[in-house]
Amino acid sequence: MSKRRISRQQRWRIEKIQAERSARAQRRADDAESSLNEGELGPEQTGIVVSHFGQQLDVEGRDGEQQRCHVRSNIDGLVTGDRVIWRPGKPTGVVVAREPRQSLLQRPDNFNRLKPVAANIDLIVIVIAPEPLAHANLIDRYLVAAEHSDITPMLLLNKADLLDPERDATLLGMVERYRDIGYRLITASCKEDGGLSELKQLLDQHISAFVGQSGVGKSSLVNHLLPGTDTRVGALSEAHAKGRHTTTTARLYHFPEGGSLIDSPGIREFALWNLGPEEVLHGFVEFRPFIGHCRFRDCKHEQEPGCALREAVEQGDIHPERFASYQQIIDSIR
Ligand code: GDP
Ligand code: ZN
Repeated sequence: MSKRRISRQQRWRIEKIQAERSARAQRRADDAESSLNEGELGPEQTGIVVSHFGQQLDVEGRDGEQQRCHVRSNIDGLVTGDRVIWRPGKPTGVVVAREPRQSLLQRPDNFNRLKPVAANIDLIVIVIAPEPLAHANLIDRYLVAAEHSDITPMLLLNKADLLDPERDATLLGMVERYRDIGYRLITASCKEDGGLSELKQLLDQHISAFVGQSGVGKSSLVNHLLPGTDTRVGALSEAHAKGRHTTTTARLYHFPEGGSLIDSPGIREFALWNLGPEEVLHGFVEFRPFIGHCRFRDCKHEQEPGCALREAVEQGDIHPERFASYQQIIDSIR
């Protein structure tokens, strides 16, 4: 037996013992860590996602307290408005499950793939105004998009203080038409005392989103309805994400008089994304009783004889302006 052989055998035994020791230590550490985590996490409870930043979320529990949470890797695509099951913890809690969604707002990313933006919105408030003047076709686009997402849309005619019955006769006639179709219409003003009281009542019990073209008063409305809340874009990124770019992050707010708002620049620009002709057609709710009754199954509702939709226009059951608007949208998506 040479010295060298003995030392090799010894070295082997020493290494084996060390490996066993370190494996034991690792097991102890793992056990300690998992029992620590288990001990630190509170019981499962329901909550709602109020904002999201990459891999982390802010969840609001039943008590109204909010906590930063991680998400179990088997749940993906959580967005603001999602109702979740979560466990509070220090410093972060963990989301363990997502509850079924009532609605999902999606918009295309830079590669034209639809991405979820916000969940469980149940009221889309389409804000219009006499200035900049509301156009029927734009309103119809919002309505079709909302109908497609299975979210109830309504019209909010803002800047009522600027309304002049004579000058705005066309606008007032147009909004009446939407009321005839069955859409709710509220007239409001940010510049008059009590100008928002009817709106406040309606928002109670809902999770709403405000959409509409620039300048109609969405920011003014949100500021009046959420006094003392900084809803500015970027206010979040400094406070929470340390400069990370979160300008498109949707956030959920509670109105002091009841109901919630999910707001983000992306949601305010809500539009007809990735809809096909059939989806557009069904988005015109008063057309639905006539769909499927044309003479030709593949009727394009253009010049074909026996088109049930065109007959409905002639009979006065569909307003010609809505039909023209439908055709305009179809042309634009082709
Ligand atoms: P947004 O682009 O839709 O967010 O619209 P803003 O809230 O920035 O409002 C655009 C302009 O309309 C601002 O100058 C507001 O002061 C004004 N504005 C908003 N609401 C009303 C209102 O009810 N009446 C009047 N007269 N002006 C309003
Ligand atoms: Zn037809």
